[in-house]
Amino acid sequence: SVKVRFCPSPTGTPHVGMVRTALFNWAYAKHTGGKFVFRIEDTDAARDTEESFGQVLEAMKWLGLDWDEGIDVGGPGGPYRQSQRGDIYAGVIEKLKAAGHIYESYSTNEEVEARHKAAGRDPKLGYDGYDRDLTPEQITGFRAEGREPVWRVRMPSEDVTFTDLVRGEITFRAGTIPDYVVVRANGQPLYTLVNPVDDALMGITHVLRGEDLLSSTPRQVVLYEALKDIGVAAATPEFGHLPYVMGDGNKKLSKRDPASNLFVHRENGFIPEGIINYLALLGWSIGPDRDVFSVKEFVEAFDIHDVLPNPARFDVKKATSINADHIRLLDVTDFRDRLVPYLQAAEVLPDKPSEAQLAILNQAAPLVQTRMNLLGEAPDLLAFLFTPDAELTMAEDGLKTLKDSAPEVLAASIEVLEGVEDWTTDTLHEALQAKLVTEMEIKPRLAFGPLRVAVSGRKVSPPLFESLEILGKDSSLTRLRALA
Ligand code: GLU
Repeated sequence: SVKVRFCPSPTGTPHVGMVRTALFNWAYAKHTGGKFVFRIEDTDAARDTEESFGQVLEAMKWLGLDWDEGIDVGGPGGPYRQSQRGDIYAGVIEKLKAAGHIYESYSTNEEVEARHKAAGRDPKLGYDGYDRDLTPEQITGFRAEGREPVWRVRMPSEDVTFTDLVRGEITFRAGTIPDYVVVRANGQPLYTLVNPVDDALMGITHVLRGEDLLSSTPRQVVLYEALKDIGVAAATPEFGHLPYVMGDGNKKLSKRDPASNLFVHRENGFIPEGIINYLALLGWSIGPDRDVFSVKEFVEAFDIHDVLPNPARFDVKKATSINADHIRLLDVTDFRDRLVPYLQAAEVLPDKPSEAQLAILNQAAPLVQTRMNLLGEAPDLLAFLFTPDAELTMAEDGLKTLKDSAPEVLAASIEVLEGVEDWTTDTLHEALQAKLVTEMEIKPRLAFGPLRVAVSGRKVSPPLFESLEILGKDSSLTRLRALA
């Protein structure tokens, strides 16, 4: 049965391309009833950080991408951080040495380049295989000079071919990949070794990862033969390389671009359902003319064989509109609860909102659910309901909409509203409509626009009469008088 893995290197903040990789692996495991392993490739002490590790974990949890084995949950293939697997790698390296699958190499880069030059070749061709057949005397000589060898894998003299689940058959011609280093001179194993060793020991059946790793696959396919020979691997997994995620200008979405950062999207008010839906579309589609679907529908439909190899553009606009659809699909109390942290971050609500504040939010949530694309729009839309009357400020764009008729409209409205006892949306609507539109013959936009500005301080707000109801009579009148 299927066993896939997600094995990020904890450097920097979670990149949406990396999250897409996690998502596709997770979905493929769920779709097939297989297992999903989450481990961490933290062998690069210079670049890996605990902060970044914490962020990857946080991203997985926020999105609800759960795993069967790995970090926190454990499992038979642990430990699940490469930094804790040194002994395992040392054991495998010894076996590879003993079986002659890797050989010691003393050539420096300068020596390799000099040999290429002397033979009239491009000096940058890469390692030339010189140390493949060193004699014991040569080795003793190098050792005597104090040199420490790196260890290289012997690449075969035939083409390396594998069938990529996304791209079909891929062939790397014989001789195009130099014998590559798997163990540094200081004994440290490299990604090229530890990644397939972990995959082998954890029984990974499908390696689904970004296209940037395509060039390491022929190396790993070759190494697998050696790992099988020494009894570390049972079989070579299948490989599927997910298309690049592109940013503006048809370039790979750079880590420096804020749009690449999952947490920027969360901060702006993407909900997990929305971002998952959008990321699922980066290289895959559920069907023609259909963009919006639930996580459950995604899992049911997702097959790695349907992923397309063409680069996928990350389009924030399209992502936002998909997020808006998912916001509308939320149960209203769920929607309300999700607004709270955004209102708190903007200091519209305190850390511990009062009963009265929560009651206002309850009433307001259904009014704005269909008006928002991102939860981060909530503070702007709702702040006026939580602001004391005396502290309400008038936004410039709101004041600009006021016409010469505004004072007259406000004065008449105050008069009408002072007499309204049943302070409900329908009554308020009827009373104001009768006075301003029917009796005074003012166009609805000119009649209600100034009221909206007076109570909310803005040009755009939740629906007016509902807002008046939520604010209550005293507060509404105070605000109208302040602008009149
Ligand atoms: N640790 C690698 C990375 O973050 C992933 C390697 C793989 O998926 O094979 O790019």
